Amino acid sequence: MRYIRPVSTPSDPSEADWSTRHSVLSTARRTAALVNVLSGGPPGPGSGTGPHPAPDAVAEVLRAHGEIDPFELTSRDVEGMRAGAVLLREVFAADSADAAAHALNRLLGAHTGALRLTSHQGVTPWHPHLDRGDDAPWPEWFLASSCMALAVLVWDRQRPPGRVCASGACRNVFIRQGSGPERRYCSRRCATRERVAAHRRRG
Ligand SMILES: [Zn+2]
Repeated sequence: MRYIRPVSTPSDPSEADWSTRHSVLSTARRTAALVNVLSGGPPGPGSGTGPHPAPDAVAEVLRAHGEIDPFELTSRDVEGMRAGAVLLREVFAADSADAAAHALNRLLGAHTGALRLTSHQGVTPWHPHLDRGDDAPWPEWFLASSCMALAVLVWDRQRPPGRVCASGACRNVFIRQGSGPERRYCSRRCATRERVAAHRRRG
């Protein structure tokens, strides 16, 4: 079973956390965090893949985004999720709404099931799923829930949902802000490193 920990009780769905933890944006941010732990690291020569992550590292990211213990995540699950992360990178790399939509359509056509609603037997608010069942394997769940959130962001914003960090030393992806100035780096750390490097180049 995989669902986000409800902070309030099902009998009181008006509690803000009851829905915000399931918001499109929280799901999209979880997707970015998982893509990074699954397929981040420094650029490999030609392959575009970094070191393989340990199940513990991936479980930690799932927990940080509300997954309830106990849950089991094998290295085989992680390998499957990693394949999904590599596919999802194409959506994050898209530099226009059109490119993001085409990338998502390819994934939706090849890897997800029909749209359905679930409340995980009343444990969560009703929300849409594209996997084939509530007990779908981790890789199927990851790709389907990620496609769902990213597709809704394209619909809502008519912009690419995310981007890849502009630092050449980093492969992290992140979710774009809905408005305001465009962010180029995944983190303050990358922004600072690039600013220092540019300063040195100017000498
Ligand atoms: Zn970065």
